[in-house]
Amino acid sequence: MKPLIVANWKMNPATLEEAKNLFDQVKETGAVICPPFVYLSALRANGAQDCFWEEKGAFTGEISAQMLKDLGVEYVILGHSERRKYQKETDEIISKKIKAALGAGLKVILCIDRISQIKKDLQEIENWKLKIENLTVAYEPLFAIGTGKACPPERAEKMKIAVKKFLGPDTPVLYGGSVNSQNAGEYVKDAGFDGLLVGGASLKPVEFIDIIKNVC
Ligand code: PEP
Repeated sequence: MKPLIVANWKMNPATLEEAKNLFDQVKETGAVICPPFVYLSALRANGAQDCFWEEKGAFTGEISAQMLKDLGVEYVILGHSERRKYQKETDEIISKKIKAALGAGLKVILCIDRISQIKKDLQEIENWKLKIENLTVAYEPLFAIGTGKACPPERAEKMKIAVKKFLGPDTPVLYGGSVNSQNAGEYVKDAGFDGLLVGGASLKPVEFIDIIKNVC
């Protein structure tokens, strides 16, 4: 299967004009592009960086999974370590979000940095063993995110094997953490990951396109 490449733009770029410019350069790549919420509509992007667990109501500042679905979004990143850290998202919160996202028909990219998070992050989903066909796991070791210190591929591969042992061989597993065009192939071609979650390098169109060329 073709590797799944996901661009996590985080809170970038600073203006809609820059976002349009960046998007125009990468939109033909087939990657999942996850811009900030406020750019989703203008770009018609296929990915989002978060969603809330309720469908509607008095939840100031929140965005529901169905609202994303209605905009044409296909994938949502949940459980990113920056949300666990800055928004104090717990496994219980993440689990409620996963349930809502899967319920709205979105595909979930669940970020973890250790295996024990998977079970906790799926606690809200009854019979989750039967219902995870729309779940992708991204292994993102904390020390590698945004640091330029990517995880040694052999070490990452052990986590990929552990995730598949836990969730089944058909669950796609991505690697994320300081991916660039030089190391991308080591994760997909050598360590056998099903794709990549790319942060910083996804903001540099030439580099991002090179990452894709090197793994596809
Ligand atoms: C991320 O934040 O998901 C990520 C992988 O970031 P970076 O590629 O910048 O390490």
